[in-house]
Amino acid sequence: MKLDELVALLRRRGVLWPSAEIYGGTQGLYDYGPLGTRLKQRIEDAWQSWFLGLSEDYHLIQPAELLPEPVVRASGHLENFTDPEVTCGHCHAVFRAETVLEKVRPEGVDGLSPAEIGEIVTRHQLRCPSCGSTELTVPRPFNLMFGLDFGVTGRERVYLQPETAQASYLSFARMWDVGRRTLPLGVAVIAHAYRNEIAPRQVLFRMRAFTQAELQIFFDPTDFPVPFSDVADELLPVVRARDRLAGREEVRRVAARELAGAGELPEFYVYHMVQSYRFYRDVLRHPAERIRLFEKSDQERAFYNRIQFDLEVQLESLGGFKELGAIHYRGDYDLGRHGQGSGHDLSVVPTGRPRVLPHVLELTFGVDRNLWALADAHLTVEGDRTYWKLPSYLSPVPVGVFPLLKKEHGPAARSVAERLRSAGIRAVVDTAGSIGKRYARMDEAGTPFGVTVDGETVEAASPNHGTVTLRERDSRAQERVPIDRLAERLRPFFVPPRPGGTRAD
Ligand SMILES: [Zn+2]
Repeated sequence: MKLDELVALLRRRGVLWPSAEIYGGTQGLYDYGPLGTRLKQRIEDAWQSWFLGLSEDYHLIQPAELLPEPVVRASGHLENFTDPEVTCGHCHAVFRAETVLEKVRPEGVDGLSPAEIGEIVTRHQLRCPSCGSTELTVPRPFNLMFGLDFGVTGRERVYLQPETAQASYLSFARMWDVGRRTLPLGVAVIAHAYRNEIAPRQVLFRMRAFTQAELQIFFDPTDFPVPFSDVADELLPVVRARDRLAGREEVRRVAARELAGAGELPEFYVYHMVQSYRFYRDVLRHPAERIRLFEKSDQERAFYNRIQFDLEVQLESLGGFKELGAIHYRGDYDLGRHGQGSGHDLSVVPTGRPRVLPHVLELTFGVDRNLWALADAHLTVEGDRTYWKLPSYLSPVPVGVFPLLKKEHGPAARSVAERLRSAGIRAVVDTAGSIGKRYARMDEAGTPFGVTVDGETVEAASPNHGTVTLRERDSRAQERVPIDRLAERLRPFFVPPRPGGTRAD
């Protein structure tokens, strides 16, 4: 589906819309409606089920979203969390330098200084994307954090967290004290992050307030045991940085064993590449051929990242592969910086091992981006039928219950829905319009199962008394199922997969 078609459909169905829409909307801010809110929760639940399922020592915490100034000074965000901006001297429009340089430097401006960017602008006589003038200012760094006055004196500064990772680093010492005092220790956060983007765009892809799901794994670099043999045969779709430098951009399918062989990439890193890849393929159900692990080169990645592969999925609405997550090996940068900044030594002594300043492996996901990707990948148009092929455990409305005739079959339908709800399965009763219309509405909302209550359900004399028609969304196959067995029949479909588990459908 094209970008504008998808936006229109999602808005019409109440999945999401621009914030303060009645005031004309606000750039880079979106609100989720009922379907969007539930879908987002399901994605977060599936993420937790998968990644916290990797170890009993991985925990979710919920931090405050404001960071005091000393924290962002130590983390480097005050100094370095900037995007070079260029202003047009003629029309006064402001652009990200990356936008101005798009045609002459498609690989982006990461790693370039403002002076180097300015040199490229002059050399190519680049023009204002808005009015065409060449009166562009020298790029200057623009800090992307939202700073706030804190407290009544106005002398203290705090910042809306620009990433959720910092909260995990700040909590490490406390988590160590309250936990089992072993490494690896994982601290996950699912929360808002805020960035004052110069040019928000592509709907959920560059927002000013968005949700991240991040797992920071603290580990001893000399000892990070993983069950590598479980994943060694997995073929990973990779684009290596060195291949790109040699002009080869295509995806290669390489066995995990080979990636970790000959001291290439650490086993613990490849293991988490596999788990992240499987999350996209087996949990979010993106077709394997649309997923790739894209390695960032020395120049492209942040200086503290020793290894970085982005998880990218090919999205029709955005015309190519888009980054939805990433795996960052950050070394000891974070605990080192916060150790210095706070004066609190963050090295630890795991039982039976020497003192160590833990390293960090970060698994990071943009929840909003992933929600968008689920719409892009799974909203399916076939002739005049539109249906959202969401995996059942991600569906905002798991079951729709339809009385064939509103009056005659309404009470029985409500009782079926109530029985499902008391079994922990969310079901809604829909009585509006023909059965065909109701199926269509539920198809578009991604509801995997429709249950129809009809005359045979309620008539004591009917051989089908006490049964309903169960319709499956994707195949449209129908069968009669006893009401008594409905919940037990459907429940397995609503459990999100866990690593190493088996799939219900
Ligand atoms: Zn201009």
